[in-house]
Amino acid sequence: MKYISTRGQTAPMDFSDVLLMGLAPDGGLMLPETYPQIDDATLSEWRSLSYSELALAIMSKFATDIPAADLEDIIQRTYNTKTFGSADITPVRKLDDNLYVLELSNGPTLAFKDVAMQFLGNAFEYVLKQKNKRITIIGATSGDTGSAAEYALRGKDNIEVFMLSPHGKMSAFQRAQMYSLTDANIHNIAIKGMFDDCQDIVKALQQDAEFKAQYDLGTVNSINWGRILAQIVYYFKAYFAVTNSNDDKVSFSVPSGNFGNICAGHIAREMGLPIGRLIVATNENDVLNDFFNQGKYQPRAADNTYVTSSPSMDISKASNFERFVYLLLEKDTARVHELFDGVKQGQGFDLSDVMSAINDQYGFAAGKSTHEDRLATIKDLYDTHQDLVDPHTADGIKVAKELQQAGEVIVCAETALPAKFAETINEAVGQIEIARPAHTEGLEDLAQHVTVLDNDANLVAEQIRQHVSANTAA
Ligand SMILES: *Cc1c(COP(=O)(O)O)cnc(C)c1O
Repeated sequence: MKYISTRGQTAPMDFSDVLLMGLAPDGGLMLPETYPQIDDATLSEWRSLSYSELALAIMSKFATDIPAADLEDIIQRTYNTKTFGSADITPVRKLDDNLYVLELSNGPTLAFKDVAMQFLGNAFEYVLKQKNKRITIIGATSGDTGSAAEYALRGKDNIEVFMLSPHGKMSAFQRAQMYSLTDANIHNIAIKGMFDDCQDIVKALQQDAEFKAQYDLGTVNSINWGRILAQIVYYFKAYFAVTNSNDDKVSFSVPSGNFGNICAGHIAREMGLPIGRLIVATNENDVLNDFFNQGKYQPRAADNTYVTSSPSMDISKASNFERFVYLLLEKDTARVHELFDGVKQGQGFDLSDVMSAINDQYGFAAGKSTHEDRLATIKDLYDTHQDLVDPHTADGIKVAKELQQAGEVIVCAETALPAKFAETINEAVGQIEIARPAHTEGLEDLAQHVTVLDNDANLVAEQIRQHVSANTAA
């Protein structure tokens, strides 16, 4: 299988090259030339597979330049009880008739990003070894992404990680998660500034072509194809968990920000998985809600992005959205290029003329949830079901209930555990003891390792020079 760019100006590439990439050289996103089609007989065979067997069956259709035995080894080292707490990896629990929760957050950092990042860590290490290369990952985080990346890349050969976070702006739990790591290849840097300042520093260093080549800079952000691929697996697993026959349809409600998670659901549906609707749930940052209801995409500027109590969805420009628009526009790469060049300049676009394709052909629907909604949803589930969900998951459940049609089975993605967001949980239900996985007990008491720097890209560059030897070939 070859990979191409949504903007049509990049020569076709293999999976293992795409895996290490961020944006395509032409500014687009990489994706497979076509999505493999899964027929009814294959779906039936896959029903009884374990998570890791299913992952191998799906991923081997995309990662065709990695020998099957090697891919199997990467998958088995990733998806096991030790890392994800159960053999099911992503179990499903029932809330009500026709309403389920897909547990995606039982990995090391208690958020769904672990499912993809843990795979990426092992796959990166393997591919780098094969190619005799190294990589220096630099990233900016306000919480979930950075910790998931660090727990996935810690101790990996030929990988150094420099993770920038805003000094004093993360929760005590998030700080403890990241700063307590002692692995020599993990470097936490707290910047005296905001998240946007961290992101600007990362951009500045990435744009310095000479520095980038000298230190083999790379990223693991949400547009990475390997992350999307790993997420496709759990849509199949959940479908099999809640159906007995391939004649049944299942809808998914997904708390969304960068459109990465639900993009994987969209691809599963394109592959032939009988998904009914893909429900995009947003918080107050409702750019995607507007698009999927009205066909108009109007991204906000960073300084118009609301700070909410479901912070991992506080995104105003959905970085994976272009992968769907490419298909919606029937692979018209010139048009995609034009539209997203406009987005870069702060413009929006209007595709309301293809609303019926968005809703009927591709199955998308969307709804929005606010602070009051998520508090009410958390409280209601706690009072009536003794079930505690995190604020992001609550957004997805609120929207699922609002849009559910008669007889429609909806699976709601649980994108984080409540223990990560104690403050909002307590606001919703009062001061209660919030259960935590055993491996996070006492986390806040561990020694923390972080370098605090002024908001200056040169100081971060200096840290990289100190810890990574310069590439003389570059
Ligand atoms: C990252 C994240 C999301 C948003 O996922 P996208 O793939 O960016 O749409 C939702 N909830 C939580 C808890 C997250 O960490």
